[in-house]
Amino acid sequence: MANLKQERTFVLIKPDGVKKGLIGEVIKRFEQRDLKIVALEMFEPSRDMIDNHYPKYDAWIERVGGKTLSTYAKYGVDPIEALGTDDAHKIGTMVRGWLLDFMTSAPLVRMVVEGAHAVDVVRKIAGPTLPYAAEVGTIRGDFSIDSPAIANSEKRAVANILHASETPQEAEHEIKHWFGANAGFSYKRFGIDE
Ligand code: ATP
Ligand code: MG
Repeated sequence: MANLKQERTFVLIKPDGVKKGLIGEVIKRFEQRDLKIVALEMFEPSRDMIDNHYPKYDAWIERVGGKTLSTYAKYGVDPIEALGTDDAHKIGTMVRGWLLDFMTSAPLVRMVVEGAHAVDVVRKIAGPTLPYAAEVGTIRGDFSIDSPAIANSEKRAVANILHASETPQEAEHEIKHWFGANAGFSYKRFGIDE
């Protein structure tokens, strides 16, 4: 059985996180929860690398478009008036394009985070996708208030500080995509590994 303390997840600090000076804050919140940074680098991504990072399948695109539609429904915005369509797939495709613009607008910080239930715990520390709905105490809830209604009206993606893998399978794929096959250093954390 795999060592349960060595689950790994992939985290990308997005342009707004870098530009708000939150690199240290993000790392601090992982480390204080006994998670271990095992790879870390600032870099400038190509549009192609970002394009291949985000999923391209219909269900994902529709889920992204659906976030706009549900926020619009809640706040009484007509999607046809705002975006010219109420089709989740078409809106999702638009948002995906804005996401590529956003993610290539500044240097990013990529890292591999390791520890017990790293995938779920990191998502919990990050908070849910939409900052306006994220609980206070999460990174997204403490440092952003962005929403699809605001972002889409400015023809941009939601700025939510960081990306984190959603499942261990996605983490494995993303670590390989961003760091190559043999990513990550090995060391012991006091009080956790020794
Ligand atoms: P990430 O994959 O970046 O960790 P997530 O898993 O919480 O975030 P996804 O549904 O995978 O969210 O969407 C990817 C990213 O696309 C979001 O983090 C956000 O920046 C942007 N995004 C998603 N839905 C919308 C939307 N409706 N309008 C604008 N931007 C969006
Ligand atoms: Mg995601």
